Amino acid sequence: MLIVLKQRNDAALIHEIQELLKKKYGCPSHVIGQNRRVIAVTGDTSGVEVSLIGSIEGVRSVDRVDRPYKLASREQKNRTVIRVRKDCVIGDPKNVVVIAGPCSIDSQSRLDETAAMAKARGVKILRGGAFKPRTGPYSFQGLGEKGLKMIKRSGEKYGMATISEIMKPEDIGLFEEYVDLLQIGARNMQNYDLLKAVAKSRKPVMLKRGLAATLEELLLAAEYILSGGNPHVMLCERGIRTFEEEVRFTLCLGSVPALRELTHLPILVDPSHAMGKMRWVKDAACGAVAVGADGLIIEIHPRPNESSCDSAQLLDREHWNDCMDAVTKVAKAVGKRIC
Ligand code: PEP
Ligand code: MN
Repeated sequence: MLIVLKQRNDAALIHEIQELLKKKYGCPSHVIGQNRRVIAVTGDTSGVEVSLIGSIEGVRSVDRVDRPYKLASREQKNRTVIRVRKDCVIGDPKNVVVIAGPCSIDSQSRLDETAAMAKARGVKILRGGAFKPRTGPYSFQGLGEKGLKMIKRSGEKYGMATISEIMKPEDIGLFEEYVDLLQIGARNMQNYDLLKAVAKSRKPVMLKRGLAATLEELLLAAEYILSGGNPHVMLCERGIRTFEEEVRFTLCLGSVPALRELTHLPILVDPSHAMGKMRWVKDAACGAVAVGADGLIIEIHPRPNESSCDSAQLLDREHWNDCMDAVTKVAKAVGKRIC
């Protein structure tokens, strides 16, 4: 960490800062440069509060130099590869893994129909929400445990792995029993008790970017899961909230190449929640594959109007087939395969 002072050779201020660094954070420091205006802090600086040091009168800037996340950083390794099954590996640079299914699980028969629709296009991971994070309390909240039992049954029936969103730390046992992958939704990206709970699980976790989260905050959330003992973490860009109102969220496709530089974790994109309209999902999905996403998570339904949740963005059969045809071509163009 480098602390730059406004004035040169301010012995009293230098002493004050060095004492604070030593006493509060146990960090040694050295004054560097001829002008005696820069303090270099050494040792483990992860606990040092940048805002506190920066607020001291006479301090011009504080630069952490190192990123605040360690385990999620690309400096650790090049790529994390998550083997969901023998034929379904997320994070392999040659693969684009497609996850598909309904927004929420409404009934066994409709879920089965949707799973068949996904399976027909080679999808190996079935999504479906049982505990739904709805903006208002009067909207359908999901079938809860009953829904998890249904997705387990559909997964077994169609030979697919399953993923569903967990909202509470105390539900971890249920999810361990019924699904193969855990989803942390955008609204819970900074639910730290939940992050700590999934960190204790052996199941892979898909962590969605919060509506107003920076990439650094996303990676720090991932760091909670990694540092808690679960190395199987993948990130999901799903659009952020901006001043734009025509599109449901602003899909930040630039985050894919940016995250690729910052982290070794697999990067997925959710074009469904970002776009919010059936007819726009395909184009966003193609864009995601073109910029290097490791996977897509797409909401589909045989009859979107029958869904209790997100009907406008669910792909019907025709749009789903069209979307898969298009992303298959884009994947091929960038030297990858859809799986
Ligand atoms: C979902 O994938 O079901 C969902 C609610 O998405 P998000 O958390 O990104 O809003
Ligand atoms: Mn949805």
